[in-house]
Order: sequence, then C-alpha cells, then structure tokens
Amino acid sequence: MTTASAAATAVVNAGPLDDALRQLSAAVELLAYDEGLHQLLAKPRREMAVSIPLRRDDGTVEVLTGYRVQHNFSRGPAKGGLRYSPDVTLDEVRALAMWMTWKCALLDVPYGGAKGGITLDPANYSTAELSRVTRRYTNEILPIIGPDTDIPAPDIGTDEQTMAWIMDAYSTSVGHTVPAVVTGKPVNLGGSLGRQSATSRGVVHIALAALAYRGATPSRASAAVQGFGKVGSGSAQFLAEAGVQVIAVSDRYGAVHNKAGLDIAALQAHVAQTGSVVGFVGADTIDSDDLLTLDVDLLVPAAVEGVVNAANAHRIQASIVVEGANGPTTSEADEILHARGVLVVPDILANAGGVIVSYFEWAQGNQAYQWTADEVEQRLESRMKQGWKSVLDTATRRDLTLRQAATVTAVSRVAEAHLTRGLFP
Ligand code: GLU
Repeated sequence: MTTASAAATAVVNAGPLDDALRQLSAAVELLAYDEGLHQLLAKPRREMAVSIPLRRDDGTVEVLTGYRVQHNFSRGPAKGGLRYSPDVTLDEVRALAMWMTWKCALLDVPYGGAKGGITLDPANYSTAELSRVTRRYTNEILPIIGPDTDIPAPDIGTDEQTMAWIMDAYSTSVGHTVPAVVTGKPVNLGGSLGRQSATSRGVVHIALAALAYRGATPSRASAAVQGFGKVGSGSAQFLAEAGVQVIAVSDRYGAVHNKAGLDIAALQAHVAQTGSVVGFVGADTIDSDDLLTLDVDLLVPAAVEGVVNAANAHRIQASIVVEGANGPTTSEADEILHARGVLVVPDILANAGGVIVSYFEWAQGNQAYQWTADEVEQRLESRMKQGWKSVLDTATRRDLTLRQAATVTAVSRVAEAHLTRGLFP
C-alpha cells in the first residue's frame, strides 16, 4: 500500500460523517427543503455489518469486520468502492457512501451511492488470504449486491484482482457469470480500457481547468501531491506531463521533495521496486505533514479523509486545492480556506473520473461491446470539463463556494428523482 496515513496530520475532528452531514445540511438550507426530506437524504437506505472469519495461512482463525452501506437508490443502483484499511469504521463508510450518491448525481451518472469496507491492512496478508477474505465478504453481502442493485469497485487497498475475486464468488453463487456485478475489473474479464487511470486523469482535467480559471500557466505552476497510490501517482504523472512542476509527493512511509521538480516516471519506477517513495535519489526527504503547507500553486490531497484540517488550514500556501481523495478537507478547514481565498475543488467533482469510467465499463458490458482507450478518455474528459463548467457557473451565479455549488446541484437531482418517484407506499 502506498497511501499516506491520515494519522500523522489529522487533529481531533468529529470525523468524515460529521463533515458529510454538515455539507448536506448546508445544501438543504440553500434549497429550502423540509426536515422530512433532509432526514431522507441524510440516512443510508440500507446498511450491513458482517463478521468475516479468515483462516490465516498458518491455520489460525481471525475474525475481521466488513461493512456495506447503501446510501441512496433514487437515481439508480447503488455504486461505490470497497476499502481495505485497518481504520475503517461504519461511520466512515456511511460518509463515503453519501459522497458517492452526490458524486454520481453531480456527474449525471445513473446510480445511487454505496461504499464498503473491511478492517484490514492488506500489506499484512498474503494474496491467498486476501482472496479468502474477499470471497467470504462477498458471500456475506451477496443478498444486497448485484448488477442492478449495488455494484462495488476498487478503493483504497483494493484493486482489479479484488474485483475479479468478487465477480467470481458472486458468479459461482448465482450459477452463471455476472461481470456487471463489479467495475474496475481486469480488462480480460470485461473491464474497461482507461479505468485504472480514470480517477487521476479526471483529477488533472479539473486541476488544469482550475489553474486556467485562476490565470496560471501549467508550465509555470508547481504542485504537491499527498498520497502516491492509484490516485496520487497518476495525478503526479499527468500533472507533470501537462508541464506542471510536481515538487513533492508523499506516501504512508514518508515524503520526498525537489524544488526543481521531481522526475515522476523515475519515482514510479523506484516505488515499483521498493514499495515506497522514501529513499528516492534526486529528492530530499521532508516531513509528511510539511508537504501540505509547501509554497506551491496547487495542492492535491490524494489519500484519506481529514488531512486538511483546523490545525493546518491557516498554513496552507497553495492557492488551489483539488481533492483527489474523498473528504480530505474538514468542514472547519473548508471555512478557513474559503476565508483565505483558497479555491477548493470538491472531491465529488475532482475525483469523479473513477466512477464515470466505472459507468462506462458497466455500459460497455451491457452493450457487450468494447470502446477504444481513446473513446473512453475523450468521453471522460468531456464529462469532467462539463462538470467543472456547470459547478463553476452555479457557484458564480449563486455566489457559492465550489463545494456548496456541487453539493446543491447533486442533492437537488437526488431529491427531484425521489419526489418524482413518490414515497412508497
Ligand atoms: N472508489 C472510487 C470513488 O471513491 C470509485 C467508485 C466506483 O467506481 O464505483 O469514487
């Protein structure tokens, strides 16, 4: 795992669920919805907690905890990633599921929102053990997932192999192959070209749009990226390819810095070899906490929740924050950054590239027809740019922050779908 840990930077905060609920309340107030509708949007429609007994390779048995939360189905099947992390809690999964609902609605992807998690650090388990955990978890949540019900995808600590195991366990159980039960599958099992890089490509489309909006030229801009996993590594790469000087990156083990700009391709090769950014020649080691407050134009937190918080928001020097992670900025920090004139591009817009291409994968599967990598990338770019334009227009027209504009748009789409369907019975 190459995801930076929040523990080092997070101060005591009420947590991601509190942040998600505060964002929803602000949107509900702007939309003048009544309390009944507010509660309907605040509460997950369905959630499941399961025990997962795992036989370790040494024969001992360990019992892990897994969750699947389905926040909303008003616009379509629930959709969202599955996270493997020792820090996973039910409240965190609830927050992440709610953000998936808003993300899908904002980008007009025909899904509701869901999220899953298992309390484990994949770095401490063998591939065979991870396969057993994944299959047993799939078996436990089987009654509530399916291609028209709830479609898992990768998130922190999971990847296309995890999706292949879920697809296999599900298919074996129902008696026929069901590729559409997950997205983010390997391409040889019906995965989409361009899915692996989709989130980070999307982050960079948005980052470049935000730089242009603030009058900055990419070749004269600098960036720091927190996290060097699927999202952070790709974001650093595509930023560098666009001419931006990426001067610092971090992972859970440490941070590296070079004020002349890091050679991202060489750094990726170093990580592939050693498992961490630490020890990369051609860079100085810096404290991971200091990465967030470096003097850069663009900061991309691409790891976990709560890292930009009341303890460091006053010291952030970047003029633009693009949220590659889900929920990296606490509500307190959001207010501080807004007051200081920092442009924060919210997660539900900035990192939506992943679920957009998940939707493309599902659509390709349903059509039994594969799109080319170029087609996928062009459609992704056009959706991200359209999303940016519509959020910026709403923010300008209604004098809102980008997060308020994005949340209001998303929440109103979900509420309207719900109201059009009507309440059963
Ligand atoms: N885990 C990703 C996210 O947080 C992707 C979810 C998906 O593709 O369903 O957006």
